[in-house]
Amino acid sequence: MSSMMQRPLLISSLIEHAARNHGTTEIISRTVEGGAAFVLHRTTYGEACKRAKRLANALTRLGVANGDRIGALAWNGYRHFELYYGVSGMGAVMHTINPRLFPEQLAYIANHAEDKYIFFDLTFAPLIEALAAKAHGVKGFIAMADRACLEKAIPDSNIRNLLCYEELLATESCEYEWPQFDELTPSSLCYTSGTTGNPKGVLYTHRSTMLHTISGMSPEALNISARDVMLPVVPMFHVNAWGIPYMCTAAGAKLVFPGAALDGASIHTLFEQEKVTVSAGVPTVWLGLLTHVKSNNLKFSTLKETIIGGSACPPAMIESFERDYGVRVVHAWGMTEMSPIGTVCRLMAKHFALSPAEQFKVQIRQGRVLYGVEMKIVDGEGHELPHDGKAFGDLMVRGQWIVDRYFREEHSALRDGWFPTGDVANIDADGYMQITDRSKDVIKSGGEWISSIDLENIAVAHPAVQEAGVIGIAHPKWDERPLLVVVKKKDAEVTREELLKFFDGKIAKWWMPDDVVFVDQLPHTATGKLLKTKMREDFKDYTLPTAS
Ligand code: ADP
Repeated sequence: MSSMMQRPLLISSLIEHAARNHGTTEIISRTVEGGAAFVLHRTTYGEACKRAKRLANALTRLGVANGDRIGALAWNGYRHFELYYGVSGMGAVMHTINPRLFPEQLAYIANHAEDKYIFFDLTFAPLIEALAAKAHGVKGFIAMADRACLEKAIPDSNIRNLLCYEELLATESCEYEWPQFDELTPSSLCYTSGTTGNPKGVLYTHRSTMLHTISGMSPEALNISARDVMLPVVPMFHVNAWGIPYMCTAAGAKLVFPGAALDGASIHTLFEQEKVTVSAGVPTVWLGLLTHVKSNNLKFSTLKETIIGGSACPPAMIESFERDYGVRVVHAWGMTEMSPIGTVCRLMAKHFALSPAEQFKVQIRQGRVLYGVEMKIVDGEGHELPHDGKAFGDLMVRGQWIVDRYFREEHSALRDGWFPTGDVANIDADGYMQITDRSKDVIKSGGEWISSIDLENIAVAHPAVQEAGVIGIAHPKWDERPLLVVVKKKDAEVTREELLKFFDGKIAKWWMPDDVVFVDQLPHTATGKLLKTKMREDFKDYTLPTAS
């Protein structure tokens, strides 16, 4: 018999804690509605908690019951934050939907999840109109705005059962007792962007989310405290913005939400104006920011650290942030199936005795597991490979916030109790993991593997290169050989030969791309990663000069 209290790990306890202990700490949002270019909305954890409770009352009145899925197509902002707590807190499931998915995928997801209501930012009204016609199970659509903005944005909308968020909240009481229930109750749902086939849902529980929050905010991971001002660029519509809205609430950190303005200039203005100390996002976002800051000769006055993950962070980006701007880059790896944090790259005490160049070699890796995650690499037969920094194989994980079975699928996704990530990696003796590729993207040349990520990282270190993608092209002798596809920086010039020469001495000779193609842009997934399937399709008839 336990001698300790048994209190379930529930998401509502986070907002309740913040309201009590950090009630006046601010939550800032760049507004999405109203048409104004730069309007900041200011609220506090205290206020947000009251509004989340009004929302829970409103949902109850709408007939939302335990376990019902409530969809949202929304930018990072205060109303989205209120949904996170109001919906999960009352025992319903917060289903975040990625608006960058194709319309057919959106309809598939809303129907598969059986969303009862869908909330949306006004910018997504056209998507909702299309969706409403295909998602018949949805009882109503709720515009996240007041009546005036709603009427202005969609004066003669034909969205059926259209409701107004502020009207719903206005008539409700802010008195609400968060229900106490089993911590294994589902709390939120996120679909993987599904570059092939239909998207698959990952259904998080209160327990998995809370454990991810507590471990994820620790100094070994995202290191979030009440002294921080966090601007999550990573969207709340994808893997709960890496759990940051929960971690900041637990810590009482000031939150700054960028709304729909994710370009370099807008983000930089917000950083400066709200004295942001830490941020998080995918490399493509930082590319835009660095370009803006460089070309306008700006600096970061308060930003200390930025967490970069979602795809491999090019070493050149880490270098630029640290050398040119004094901002520490923390490289991290994870996936939707992992809530998402798996590893975070932070130095160990012994590394501080090393030269900056030696430290840099550690920093470019994807990092070490945080408490709660175990990982291993295995060969084709499932035998574990050594942690020597060289051997690479399929990366397998297990832990308290890792998926077992996809939502509404019959079978477990695990192999012998481990989740196969689909990534290929090596792990060094200190446990620092490095992703060399996604198993689908690795280039198989003459029975050996070439890492497309390594080649891309080198290409983007060239001053004339904005973005680069490497894919394997069929080759009569070698099976596959690498093709480098490059977007040049605006007004920059570089030839095929100059680029290839740039690889000299940086890679084994047989890794050298067989050809270079210049394009205006590269295709991206809904979460900002290079869409390699599309690249392979675009170049499926490409003949390498070495093929004859
Ligand atoms: P999707 O884009 O399909 O929804 P996720 O956002 O869950 O998928 O992405 C997970 C994948 O992203 C990982 O399996 C890995 O391939 C890639 N990834 C994430 N972070 C990193 C990183 N730091 N370096 C390299 N690859 C990464």
